[in-house]
Amino acid sequence: MDNFRRHIYNWYSINKRDLPWRNSKDAYKIWLSEIILQQTRVAQGTSYYLRFIERFPTVKHLAQASEDEVLKLWQGLGYYSRARNLHASAKIIVNSYNSVFPNSYNDILKLKGIGPYTSAAIASIAFKQAYPAVDGNIYRVFSRYFGIKTPIDSTAGKKQFQELAEVLISKKDPGMHNQALMEFGALQCTPKSPDCKKCPVSTSCFALQNNLIDKLPIKEKKTKQSKRYFNYYLIDDGTHVYIKKRTAKDIWKNLYELPLVENTTELSNEGLLQNEIPFFSGNDFNIKQVSAAKKHVLSHQIIYAKLIYIEVNPNINITSPLIRVNKKDISKFAVPRLLEQFFEDFNLVNSTK
Ligand code: SF4
Repeated sequence: MDNFRRHIYNWYSINKRDLPWRNSKDAYKIWLSEIILQQTRVAQGTSYYLRFIERFPTVKHLAQASEDEVLKLWQGLGYYSRARNLHASAKIIVNSYNSVFPNSYNDILKLKGIGPYTSAAIASIAFKQAYPAVDGNIYRVFSRYFGIKTPIDSTAGKKQFQELAEVLISKKDPGMHNQALMEFGALQCTPKSPDCKKCPVSTSCFALQNNLIDKLPIKEKKTKQSKRYFNYYLIDDGTHVYIKKRTAKDIWKNLYELPLVENTTELSNEGLLQNEIPFFSGNDFNIKQVSAAKKHVLSHQIIYAKLIYIEVNPNINITSPLIRVNKKDISKFAVPRLLEQFFEDFNLVNSTK
């Protein structure tokens, strides 16, 4: 085990990426980077991190912002509960910890949106506490190197990997240890086709010696994805369009979107237009276009979305609680990436591509 650690630390000192949060011991910055990097690639996450730090240099700045602003800055990253929890936790730190980031693993764990992995990462990197941060990278490296075949998503597997991580953690420099292992998993022992010829621990790697690299780690359950069919209505009176806030306990909570009708199956364009147009009354409208369906893939859902573009008279009688927005201001609202793409297609915002 000592050999394994020595090789990994040495590999890390040579290969670690120069990331903007890498040399910081500021718990706020480490927290922000960890939350952004959950389910997000470093290349995409870095620009978001820099924008967040510029706009909210301290936890106090973040706590004082409106949730709308935080969500707007988060737009495009997905998994928006991360942003809502980040904001809620910033308020807790300001109100309950006098704006000073809590410095114990257990207190950090109590914050919203922080699980054992993130708490361990912050406690080890910012406060030198010996808690192992066990994420997907660690599961993969341990499973392959040590030949662990217990499924990583089973209770027994989680326990086994956690126990091994606790044995391995460096008491002297746990922050470096955690970062070295995570970086090794991200860059060297990659999910697909790792370059084992270059690996410093190849001679003692179980998976390489036993030709099991593609088989490890083992996962018990397959992620199920449900299908949803969204029909958005772009109601345009020439100067304004109408939007609403998503408030239900569902994806994209507290983001804005166009008025929506969700169906259980995909409707043809004819089928869509057969029914009465919802959200307003009167006949003074013109259906300009029905878009092709866009496929939007999330971790547990696949959304097929169409947009029905309707031109209406400015005096139209809106029958739903919608927000009337000048088209020039639409980019100020945080919307899901799917909607942003529709807005780009219909020239409501400038393309970010
Ligand atoms: S030899 Fe290959 S599979 Fe084994 S730890 Fe190194 S990169 Fe991963």
